[in-house]
Formats: sequence, C-alpha cells, structure tokens
Amino acid sequence: MITKPKGTYDVIDTDAIKLRKINRMIDYYCEFYNYDLIRTPIFESRELFHRTVGDDTDIVTKETYDFKDRSDRELTLRPEGTAGVVRSFIENKMYGSNMPRKLYYNGTMYRYERPGNGRNREFTQFGVEILGSNDVAVDAEVISFGYRLFEDLGFKDLNVKINSLGNKIDRENYKIALKDYLKPHLNDLCEDCKIRYEKNPLRILDCKVDKNSDILKNVPNILDYQSEESKKRFNKVLEYLEYLDIDYEVDHKLVRGLDYYDYTVFEIESNEEILAGANTIAAGGRYNDLVETLGGPSTPCMGFACGIERIMLAMDEFENTLKQGINCYIMYVNEEEKIKAITLAQDLRQSGVSVDYDTTGRSLKSQFKEADRNKAELLIILNSEDLNKGLITIKDNLTKEEIKIDESEIIDYIVTNG
Ligand code: ATP
Ligand code: MG
Repeated sequence: MITKPKGTYDVIDTDAIKLRKINRMIDYYCEFYNYDLIRTPIFESRELFHRTVGDDTDIVTKETYDFKDRSDRELTLRPEGTAGVVRSFIENKMYGSNMPRKLYYNGTMYRYERPGNGRNREFTQFGVEILGSNDVAVDAEVISFGYRLFEDLGFKDLNVKINSLGNKIDRENYKIALKDYLKPHLNDLCEDCKIRYEKNPLRILDCKVDKNSDILKNVPNILDYQSEESKKRFNKVLEYLEYLDIDYEVDHKLVRGLDYYDYTVFEIESNEEILAGANTIAAGGRYNDLVETLGGPSTPCMGFACGIERIMLAMDEFENTLKQGINCYIMYVNEEEKIKAITLAQDLRQSGVSVDYDTTGRSLKSQFKEADRNKAELLIILNSEDLNKGLITIKDNLTKEEIKIDESEIIDYIVTNG
C-alpha cells in the first residue's frame, strides 16, 4: 500500500468540515476589510527565498524543499507566502496610484521540519499584506483583523505579543549591545547560536533551544536602543490597539524567524491546551524594505500569516463539527421517476436548496435510510401514479407529516419551507 509522505495529511471528515468553515470566514472577513485575493505559484525560483526570508534563517538553511526541474532550473516549494506576493506585486507593477494594495492569500506551504502537534511539512497559511502605506493605523488594523477573525472562529483565550525592531540603524545599535552582552556567555549557547552570533545575532533571541536559558532572560532590551522616532511610532501602534480594544503584551525579545521585518512585529497566541507546543497561531510585522530589496520601488508594507492547521486543531475545543444536513432527499424507483428526480434536483439546487438522491440502485426502503444518514429535512417521494396526475409527495422527515402538492408549485414550496 502507498501511504502519504511524512508530515502531510489528508483533509477528510470533520477536518474537512472545519476547513470549509474557516475558509468561508476568511473570505467573508477579507471582503469586509477590503482585501483582494491573490494566488501565486506554489514553487518559485530558489533565489527569491534566499533574498527575502534570508540566507541564514532556519527556513532557508534547513527547511526548504529545493529541486531542479527537467531544464535544470533551481526551484523551491514556497515555505511562506510573503515573498511570492511581493514578487508578484513588483512583476505585475501593482504599485502606482492605487495604493495601498490590500491582498490576502490562502494556500499550502512547505517546510522540512520535524512533524509534531500543529507542525507539518505541508501546511496551510492564510495571510494578509498591506502594501504601500507606512501609517501605523495599518499595523493596528492588521493585528486587530487577525484578533477579531480568530475570536469569531471561537477562540476565547487570545494573547497578542508585540515588539518593535525599530529601523535599520536602531537594529545595528542593538546588535552591538547584544553581542557585547553575549560575548562572555558564547560557550554556553547552542551550536546554531554560535553561528548566529556572527551572522545574525538578533536571531539568537528566537532560538528554540536557548530561548528559556538564564542568559537570554537578561538580554538588553531592544526598545532601549531605538530612536525617538521609532519609539514614538511604537507607542502610537499601542495607542491604536488600545482604542481598538485589543489586549496586548509587549515582549522585547520577540524578533520572528524571518529576516525582512522592521518596526512592528507581533504574534497572536492561543492558550488552548490542545495546541501545546504550537500556541502561536499567527505572526507577522512590518517589512518596509522588502519590495526595494527585490528591485521594486520603495514601498512600506505590513502583514501576517496564520497557520490554518493550528486553527483546525483548536476548533475541536469549541466548534460543533458535525456535518450539516441537506434540505431535501429525492426518492424514486422507476426510470420515469428517476428523470423527474434528476431534473428536479437540478432546479432545486439552482434555487439555492441543497438536494441529493440515490445513484447506487438502492431500494426505496434503503433510500429512506440514506435520507436519514444525510440528515435531510424534507423527503420528496416521486411515484409515477402521482406524477401522471401532476402531483408530488413531500414528507417532513422530523414530524413525518406528508402532503401532496401540485408539481408546478414544488420549487416555491420547498424554497419557503425547506
Ligand atoms: P514556529 O516558531 O512555530 O516554528 P515560525 O516562526 O516558523 O513558527 P512563521 O514562519 O511566522 O512561523 O509562520 C506563521 C504561522 O504559520 C505560525 O505561527 C504557525 O501558525 C504556522 N506555521 C509555521 N510553520 C508551520 C508548520 N510547519 N506546520 C504548521 N503550521 C506552521
Ligand atoms: Mg518555524
């Protein structure tokens, strides 16, 4: 038997019900917050991720799926969504007068990680990006958007962690201070962190191994190394969040695992126990230099990405994932009745009624069972005798009441009573 590759999963049964609900809610929210859908390729040139996510990030050094196609092109399965969106924004010249562009994506991502609770190799991220505005109201909107969406999906115990990385100069200043502080402790850090110390010391704060060590507990506060302008900006974001009634917690050690962030970075965590070890459901921040890094015009941006599997996992705790019933089940026995069944099913479906009928040659008795299994509210029982008189029998599957109505009135009747 051929089985699924490690770190992948099939969306079936209750997961499929949850996923459909989440996707509907995402589309609904994005419409109201005025985000347009964008879909970019699942694979891109390898260079794209090296230049955006960063050459010495975990994602690029350890987690990407790289391959060559039959013409020796170097390609990578996307490990995240922002790089592709930004590439598309530049390539399609979306900049210009109609700024900001508010975009959202929802698709599979690929990272070669050790699979675990809420962690897969093929997983799904939904994300929003606002390109072309440097207003901190955008920072607050992106955070509140995620927060309210998750609340509406049923999350109760949400926690926003927020920090500011300041601008480039602020970060250079902080890196010096951080390296000074870490220098005497270098031998006590993990092997990866020793490399990070040289290449990208900020990343040490995000290390999964050293995160809770005493050394990292007392690192200098990044907020103390920022310019007045950066501090003012950050305070304004916090002020807007307060107006929007979003509880937050400033975490000066929050840096995020990708290279392209500056100023605001944040994570939204859920305290649902079922998420143990995978509590961060969404994360993002501002990336004002990324568009320019990729050869586009200077364009300040802000966005976040969220892990759909983690939402699905948590939903077990608060969502009724039983399959919804259909409105009608149509029953028939002979060919004449069957033709009526398939045409009536089409007409009813076109009128917004959910309908099904048997396609496996079941007896009438088993068709009743099938209707129950599908939780049909109404049964439409066709028989030739009635049909010849222009009549159709409808049975309420709950009260078991039956009536015969005129064939010409059937659609209206069901649309109003179904
Ligand atoms: P973590 O610290 O958990 O590894 P990350 O910093 O790598 O997360 P991001 O790259 O910021 O995560 O991705 C945003 C969100 O996507 C995460 O908060 C999480 O919900 C989800 N996510 C990331 N990697 C995975 C994965 N391998 N499987 C499932 N979901 C994931
Ligand atoms: Mg990760």
